[in-house]
Amino acid sequence: MRVTVIGAGYVGLVTSACFADVGNDVVCIDTDSKKIERLNHGEIPLREPGLDVIVARNSTAGRLKFSTSYHDAVAHASLIFIAVGTPSSEDGSADLSGVLSCAHALGQKIVRDTLVVIKSTVPVGTNDQVLAALQKEIQQCGANVQVRTASNPEFLKEGAAVDDFMRPDRIIVGVNDANSTDVLRALYLPFNRNRDRLFIMDVRSAEFTKYAANAMLALRISFMNEMANIADRLGVDIEEVRYGIGADPRIGPNFLYAGVGFGGSCFPKDLRALVRLADSIGESALLLRSSIQVNERQRGILFEKIKVFFGGNIQGKTIALWGLAFKANTDDMREAPSITLVDLLTRFGASVRAYDPAAIDNARQIFKTTQGITYTASAREACDGADVLAVVTEWLEFRSPDFEWLAATLTHKALFDGRNLYNPAFVRANGLQYFGVGRGHSN
Ligand code: NAD
Repeated sequence: MRVTVIGAGYVGLVTSACFADVGNDVVCIDTDSKKIERLNHGEIPLREPGLDVIVARNSTAGRLKFSTSYHDAVAHASLIFIAVGTPSSEDGSADLSGVLSCAHALGQKIVRDTLVVIKSTVPVGTNDQVLAALQKEIQQCGANVQVRTASNPEFLKEGAAVDDFMRPDRIIVGVNDANSTDVLRALYLPFNRNRDRLFIMDVRSAEFTKYAANAMLALRISFMNEMANIADRLGVDIEEVRYGIGADPRIGPNFLYAGVGFGGSCFPKDLRALVRLADSIGESALLLRSSIQVNERQRGILFEKIKVFFGGNIQGKTIALWGLAFKANTDDMREAPSITLVDLLTRFGASVRAYDPAAIDNARQIFKTTQGITYTASAREACDGADVLAVVTEWLEFRSPDFEWLAATLTHKALFDGRNLYNPAFVRANGLQYFGVGRGHSN
C-alpha cells in the first residue's frame, strides 16, 4: 500500500519505518528541514533500538522516502497518517496547533479522495476539528474530493518502539465508516496475524482509549510511589511488597515500580490534558489530579534524601549522577525526573557530574544555562571526585556496578538508588550506605 506519514519524531519515524518494512511504499514528511536532511543522509535523529537498521534497509530498497513537502505528502498516497507532536499548552490542555496546521496544509493540496488517520494523542473531538479544517480548505480550493478521518492512537513505548509497533498488544482503530475499517484492517494485517488485535470502535472512544490507558499507567506509578513513601517510614521494603501484590492476577506484576516519579513525553502531558478536558465539561478528575501531585512530590524525593544525608546543607558537595534520560534505552529528556534533581542540587550549591549512555546531547540543551553540571564519558568517570552517587535511569549498564570500587571512590560512600535497582544488604556489605525509594529506612 502507499502510505504517507506526517511527523518524523519517535512515533512518526517508527511508524513510517515499520510500515515500509512489511512492504508498503512510505513517504514521511516533517517541517523540520534539518531532521529531514539528516534522514536523507542516512542519519537517525533520535535514539531507538533497531530503528537505524530498518530505516536503512527500507531507504535502500526505495520503500521509505523523506521530504519536507506537503505536495509530496498528498501526491504520494490517499492514506495519510498525522503523527506530529501534541505538547502541553500553558494551561495544560493539548496544544493542537501542529495537528490542525497539518490538516490545513493537507486540505489545501489534496487532489483525490483521501483517508486522514490521526495517530497523535489528541483529546476527544479532535477528529471532528481536523475533518472540519480539511473540508474548509478543500471547499476554498474548489476541489471535488471526499476526505474522511479516522483515529488510530499509538501505544508504542520509547526504548522498545520498533518491537512494540511490530508486535502490538492491541491496535485501536476509531472509524466513521466501513470503508476506512477495510483500509486500516488491510494495512495492519501483517502486524495482526496470530490473533486479532484490532479493536474497531467509534472515533471518540478511540481518542479516549489512549488517554485512559496512559492515565491508568500513571496512576499505578503514583500509587506505588505513595506506598513506597509510607513503607519507608514503617520499615517496610516496597520491593517485597511489589512481588507480593503483583502475584495477584487482578493486579499483575507489570508497571508497579516505585522510584523518582514518571516523566517523558507522554504521561505528564497526557494527564494534564485529560484533567483540562474533564474540567472543560465540569468533571473534576480528582484521582488524576492526585496522581499529578504525587508525581510532582516524588520527583524531589532523591534530592530530599541527599539533603538529609548531608545534614541539610549540600553546598559544595559533588554528586555523581547516573542517568539523564527519562527511562532506559532512549535519549528522550522530555520532563525527565533528572531535570528536577539537577535543578534542585545545583540551586542549593552542589555540583553534578552526569553520565548517560544516550541523552547527554539533549541534556546539554536543557541545562544550557545551569551552572554546576558537567558531563562525563563513562559511569566511572562521573564518580571521580564525587561525594555520593545518585542513580535515576535504569540503564542496563548501571544494574550491576562494582560496589567495592564505588565505596573506595565516593568520598562519602553513599548510594542513592532512585530506581530500586540494587540489593540494599549487598550494597551495604560492600561498604556503602544505601538509600532507595521505600526500602524501609526513611532518612
Ligand atoms: P516528536 O516531538 O518526537 O515528533 C513530532 C514531529 O512532528 C517533529 O519532528 C516535528 O518537527 C513534526 N511536526 C510538528 N508539526 C508539524 C507539522 N505541522 N507538519 C509536519 N511535521 C510537523 O513527537 P512524538 O514523541 O513522536 O509524539 C507524536 C505524537 O504521538 C504525540 O501526540 C504523542 O503524544 C504521541 N505518542 C507519543 C509516544 C512516545 O512514546 N513518544 C507514544 C505514543 C503516542
